[in-house]
Amino acid sequence: MLSLYNTLTKKKEPFKSINPGKVGMYSCGPTVYDYIHIGNIRAYLNADILRRYLVYLGYEVRHIKNITDVGHLTEDDIAQGDSGDDKIAKKALSEKKTPEEIARFYEEKFKEVEKEMNILPAHYFPRATAHVPQMIKIISDLIEKGYAYSKNGNVFFDVTKFEDYGKLSGNTLANLKVGARLEEHPDKKNPWDFALWLKASKEHLMKWESPWGIGYPGWHIECSAMSTEYLGDTLDIHTGGEDNIFPHHEAEIAQSECSSEKKFVNFWVHNRHLLVDGKKMSKSKGNFYLLKDILKKGYTANEMRLLLLSSHYRSQMNFTWEAMGQAKNNLQKIMDWVSNLKSIKADQVSEEKIDFSHIYQKRFESAMDDDLNTPLALSVLYDLISETNKIISENKLDKETAENILKFWEKINKVFGLIITEEKTEIPANILMLAEERKQARISENFAESDELRKKIEELGYIIEDLKDNNYLLKIK
Ligand code: AMP
Ligand code: ZN
Repeated sequence: MLSLYNTLTKKKEPFKSINPGKVGMYSCGPTVYDYIHIGNIRAYLNADILRRYLVYLGYEVRHIKNITDVGHLTEDDIAQGDSGDDKIAKKALSEKKTPEEIARFYEEKFKEVEKEMNILPAHYFPRATAHVPQMIKIISDLIEKGYAYSKNGNVFFDVTKFEDYGKLSGNTLANLKVGARLEEHPDKKNPWDFALWLKASKEHLMKWESPWGIGYPGWHIECSAMSTEYLGDTLDIHTGGEDNIFPHHEAEIAQSECSSEKKFVNFWVHNRHLLVDGKKMSKSKGNFYLLKDILKKGYTANEMRLLLLSSHYRSQMNFTWEAMGQAKNNLQKIMDWVSNLKSIKADQVSEEKIDFSHIYQKRFESAMDDDLNTPLALSVLYDLISETNKIISENKLDKETAENILKFWEKINKVFGLIITEEKTEIPANILMLAEERKQARISENFAESDELRKKIEELGYIIEDLKDNNYLLKIK
């Protein structure tokens, strides 16, 4: 049975859906003012793996991922700053385009990246700008019920009125201190109140009529409005990156539960961040990567996918080029294995018939059932590869067993989502042998011989790149 770590209860819980056999799942999508980076990809890939595994288990999943095309302010990340410019409007001004042009352009680019990464498209990608009436309805309801107040054309959620405030992030009012990073808004009653609606200035580009005057919605309210519009008042699962826990998801709970008077989400699933070379990605540090930067270095989106799967979503992951090289090798290993299995001849007889699939399926499922442990699930696959390759090399694998293993592979690869092409390694056997000899020389610290072998390999038209633990990557020169 699948167990998921629930950020709300801080423990792994057996997954149960509200309606038997059906799952409603919402993922916070991109703010479409720039290209998505490989950290964002980690968040979307995690939701994809969860969805694929639910389908593997037999659930029918309805997956909604929003497009934030209004309301995400540049200072929103600073807790409840509720200040700064709209990220999309700011980009529109600097590029002399309309906010709509900016939003559509980056929405398209986001979808292209998801497609390249083989992330299943959400069943629907609602745009915030198309759901302002739904947001106004929830805000009006919150005011009516006494959870929100309007002042000078702004509307804020009064956090002191919701006694469960802080239950997701631990940032209860008692724990929250008015820190230096919190910018106080003159119209707020309490510093931790957050904006539901903000008054628009004359120059403001994206604005709507509302009962409180011309303005625009806050960022958090859009996810409450769009998730419940398409999935009902209570969602089975809500996903996002760890930075979304506070204030964004805490605010979503406050708004939704006060308005519907029902529990908003049963399972909160958050991925930890992807770091690059041990640091937070930033343009100024030069460690900020998009998928196209990975592709430019000669790697594929498929290899990137395998790399991301090789780390558990709840552990902080560190991206390095070395790990990327390892993922390339591993993917090649999988592709060679598939192609070996397919080339088993019908007249091949086996001395012993081994029911691989049964044992390996159990191990695969128990890894995935344990809070989507993809690195463990991959290690099960690598064990299967080693075992079958050994039998293939001894000419002992028969066609029927090979076909059963292939069927099992196709089944689990619906979860991994790797795209397997039938290309076999183009590295000839003599080069592979020299590389293995060199590895042995390096293990015995015979560096003179290892240098000699490197030269030989290069003379034959190949480059050998050293990886961790004496592993290596071979490329054509
Ligand atoms: P944003 O467009 O900033 O709202 O981010 C989109 C999604 O990516 C959110 O779920 C974030 O929590 C997630 N995210 C942002 N940065 C990272 C990162 N470095 N690693 C993993 N997830 C991230
Ligand atoms: Zn959201």
